[in-house]
Amino acid sequence: MPEQLRNAPTTGGSLKVALHPIQRLDRMSKRDFLRFIGIGAGCALCTRGWTSLVQNDAWAAVTHAGEDKPWRWSKEALFCVKKDGYVQCQKCPHECALAPGDVGICRSRVNYDGTVYSIAYGNPCAVHVDPIEKKPLFHFLPSTRSFSIAVAGCNLRCLNCQNWEISQASPRETQNYDLMPESVVEGALQNQCATIAYTYSEPTTFYEYAYDTATIAHRHAVRNVWKSCGYINEVPLRQLCKVIDAANIDLKSFDDKIYRELNSANLAPILDTLKVIKSEGVWLEITNLVIPSWTDDMGMIGRMADWLCANGFQDSPLHFSRFTPLYKLTQLPLTPVSTLEAARETAMKAGMRYVYIGNVPGHEAENTICPNCKSVEIERKGFTVVRNALRAGKCSKCGAKVPGVWS
Ligand code: SF4
Repeated sequence: MPEQLRNAPTTGGSLKVALHPIQRLDRMSKRDFLRFIGIGAGCALCTRGWTSLVQNDAWAAVTHAGEDKPWRWSKEALFCVKKDGYVQCQKCPHECALAPGDVGICRSRVNYDGTVYSIAYGNPCAVHVDPIEKKPLFHFLPSTRSFSIAVAGCNLRCLNCQNWEISQASPRETQNYDLMPESVVEGALQNQCATIAYTYSEPTTFYEYAYDTATIAHRHAVRNVWKSCGYINEVPLRQLCKVIDAANIDLKSFDDKIYRELNSANLAPILDTLKVIKSEGVWLEITNLVIPSWTDDMGMIGRMADWLCANGFQDSPLHFSRFTPLYKLTQLPLTPVSTLEAARETAMKAGMRYVYIGNVPGHEAENTICPNCKSVEIERKGFTVVRNALRAGKCSKCGAKVPGVWS
């Protein structure tokens, strides 16, 4: 599931509320933009200043017939193979065959005169500074800020999507910023963000933009966070893992039929993604959204936890997240807290060592507990760390190592 706009403790809050500062560029003054983004004056890296990012002609350029690319915010897509009369995109398991004029399932790739372009390059529709805990990442640089961006589009069709206004739209349809990769990194630095997060919608669909941004970020000691559904092919994923430092992947269920009906995807590629990320040494956390009547079967959750343990993920934090009725599943109730607690207990019995409950602010399962001596080492309230007792990544009471990236 797209991160956080749906995980917000303001249950039921619409995207418009969550993204209230976002306005059309042509209606947003430079002063308002700077106030929203929290930009201070000046940056050692920046010679032109943030104000130059706000360009009132952002919506003027859409399609330029006769030009060499479909519009201003586009870049030739990676991982595309020319076939006889069409181009196959090999970014994700859909492997769309795109003839001239065709658009991919993700709405972010177009075949323009025989060449496939990403049209999600430098045009984020969401730009926020979030706590890293909001991704959620609980064992990765706690209490730090993450400069979070999204471009419209997704390669899944989740019935429960809480960010559907941006995930189920084309980058042409949303109200966007004009923010090239260098400027994203500037924004992260100026906002004292330790990381840049590619999140909210589905970053696989803005891969080229995220990859270029992440590469520049590393040059400035800013790390990169990938919040994704995990529906991506191995070759692009392995290349991506060279520039990302942490990932939170949604494991939406442990049943291929549910994946097909609820998400328009398949389970096996997501399991492969988890293995690849682990094998590449990227810090990994996993989120499972527990949806009443869809993904709340404890037998299935037990099988999922068994698979995770059998494949070496015992120390990967697992977040059971509370469902909020939105989009096409508004008839369902909120997930009962007792169901989330049962899921947590099931996973811990199977051997998962760090299991959290999300979207229930104040629940004790937001805390990090040492599996060895049961000491509460990190205490959280919502996305705020109120106490962190860990010492150099070890339990303050018994000295047991707590896996994570702590500094
Ligand atoms: S990234 Fe988009 S165009 Fe490429 S295969 Fe996936 S859905 Fe199709």
